[in-house]
Amino acid sequence: MKILVLNCGSSSLKYQLINMKDESVLAKGICERIGIEGANMKHQPEGKEAYKVTTPMESHKDAVKLVLEALVDKNHGVIANIAEIDAVGHRVVHGGEEFAKSVVICDKVKKALEACSQLAPLHNPANIIGVEACEAQLPNVPQIAVFDTSFHQTMPRKAYLYALPYEYYDKHKIRRYGFHGTSHRYVSQEAAKLLGKPIEELKLITCHLGNGASVCAIKHGESVDTSMGLTPLEGLAMGTRSGDIDPAIIAFVMEKEGLTAQQVTDVLNKKSGVYGVSGVTSDFRDIEAEAADGNDRAQAALDLYYYRVAKYVGEYAAAMNGVDAVIFTAGLGENSKECRAEVCAYLGYLGIVVDHEKNAVRGKVADFSGSGATVRSMTIPTNEELVIARDTKELLDK
Ligand code: ADP
Repeated sequence: MKILVLNCGSSSLKYQLINMKDESVLAKGICERIGIEGANMKHQPEGKEAYKVTTPMESHKDAVKLVLEALVDKNHGVIANIAEIDAVGHRVVHGGEEFAKSVVICDKVKKALEACSQLAPLHNPANIIGVEACEAQLPNVPQIAVFDTSFHQTMPRKAYLYALPYEYYDKHKIRRYGFHGTSHRYVSQEAAKLLGKPIEELKLITCHLGNGASVCAIKHGESVDTSMGLTPLEGLAMGTRSGDIDPAIIAFVMEKEGLTAQQVTDVLNKKSGVYGVSGVTSDFRDIEAEAADGNDRAQAALDLYYYRVAKYVGEYAAAMNGVDAVIFTAGLGENSKECRAEVCAYLGYLGIVVDHEKNAVRGKVADFSGSGATVRSMTIPTNEELVIARDTKELLDK
């Protein structure tokens, strides 16, 4: 069985074709600048040379067409015929309260996805366009939606409810949803394997630290709390997102700076986080380099970032009354030994001890707990595409 995994952003489309026989990636790539001048596709077929083309793509429909052509191309293709694609698994950002599991997409599901769009106006519309583009290009091929939010639907009410007038929840579904669910689910399952224990017996805290970042408390295999909320803006400081702030700051800034609500929201999403504090960049590699060069604001951004990750880990250890392992994943969590060491430096009281030699890895699975540790610390590369492909296969097998 071969499954095409699609992740449609507002102007991009990432894809992987996965052979489920051995879960190997046959080809992967990205179309960028869809609908903008300079649209291009980078295609990496397994065992062949990479292929790059710059060509206009008016919509995701054009991008899907281009991807399918690349997959069957004589030179850089990996399958002989489109008919070899058994199903398409779509990453969908917001499933609201409607979807606690991945689903086969039908008209009813599409309507529900549209209803969730108001909760994720930047993401869900692009996801729906991706589904429709595939329906047009691959009629009769099953399409499956895998949601960022569904893993967190197990959160108890005390974790998902905001202390706001209850009618906001009733009327507008304002509550904590959480994101990065496929990633938190995957790394927690891998951590259980590494620990050699059933996940049903474990309390885990997973830290997904990329451009977007979130922490998740996973008790006995279920998400019981997570740092992102109604939208992916809450929680940790991120590349350009503020994370938690005093909500009164919004009205205060609107008045002082003469901004509209939308403009302040833009500042919180795009001009804050380590970018806003450092004034340099949102890329952690550059910030680490600047800080090492003595840039004090870059150092302030890093200090604030690590501190907040550590605070969330403490909060979730309290929420679960204990923790067996803390797991780091995504761009920083997988690649930055400094980040892992700095966060863990706060966590000695929990029983975390870092072995700095074992921690000196990049993009690899490692348990970097030192001797005497009673809580394990690990780094596990995430694989959201594989989770999407596995869910898709499971639904097809049913
Ligand atoms: P996204 O949320 O866009 O999927 P990623 O998970 O790819 O993001 O993470 C991107 C972030 O990871 C960037 O800020 C990048 O600087 C950071 N990163 C990648 N490699 C390293 C590294 N070696 N050291 C520090 N940060 C890194």
